[in-house]
Amino acid sequence: MRAIGLLGGTFNPIHLGHLRLAEELSMALNLDEVRFIPSANPPHKSAPSVSAKDRAHMVALAIEDNPKFQLDTQELARNGASYTIDTLKNLREDLGADTSLCLIIGSDAFVKLDTWHEWQALITYCHIVLVQRPQPNLSALNATLETFLSEHYTDNNHDLLNNAAGFISMQAITALDISSTSIRTDLYTQKSARYLVPDSVLNYIAQHQLYR
Ligand code: ATP
Ligand code: MG
Repeated sequence: MRAIGLLGGTFNPIHLGHLRLAEELSMALNLDEVRFIPSANPPHKSAPSVSAKDRAHMVALAIEDNPKFQLDTQELARNGASYTIDTLKNLREDLGADTSLCLIIGSDAFVKLDTWHEWQALITYCHIVLVQRPQPNLSALNATLETFLSEHYTDNNHDLLNNAAGFISMQAITALDISSTSIRTDLYTQKSARYLVPDSVLNYIAQHQLYR
């Protein structure tokens, strides 16, 4: 069975934390591909200061030298809020029932998963790979998500590779305390974001005068 990692995000901008996350999970789970899926209109954030087109372009530059990393711009083509469930439905239609889809979610996003559109259906379309970010701690999980996690939890990676959907696994990754929020602040205040963001992305930001 083919296994594809799905990394959704605002990518405003993409940074080495995202790339390292994708690389480590690709190795740990033996993924055939990791798809980066920029959110056009993130339902739980205020409208990003940089257009979806520019954010997708920066993702393309950041991943261009890695044949396993692919950009998926389907959310840019849709109107209205970018719901992950709609993206999963599309991917299932394109890829069929026999592909393992592993939705990568940081702990910061997972603690709010029960506010996502049709959240309980997500696990019927994909696995969830939960990775710990420095903040917040998973002890912040509410009772609903605690139950959801224990009902689907596996510590056996084979479950992810031998089934198309339905499991939640937790993966340890190198904690890189980098966020797009702190990078935007650096850029707005004319501080260097070098070595946090790929050079090609920094060049694009300078050329297009983003985050001024
Ligand atoms: P922002 O600060 O604007 O929220 P962000 O850095 O959190 O941006 P997102 O685009 O929101 O980036 O993140 C997309 C996905 O990548 C989320 O699942 C998030 O948890 C994960 N992620 C982001 N940064 C890191 C990091 N440094 N280490 C591990 N996972 C990360
Ligand atoms: Mg975030």
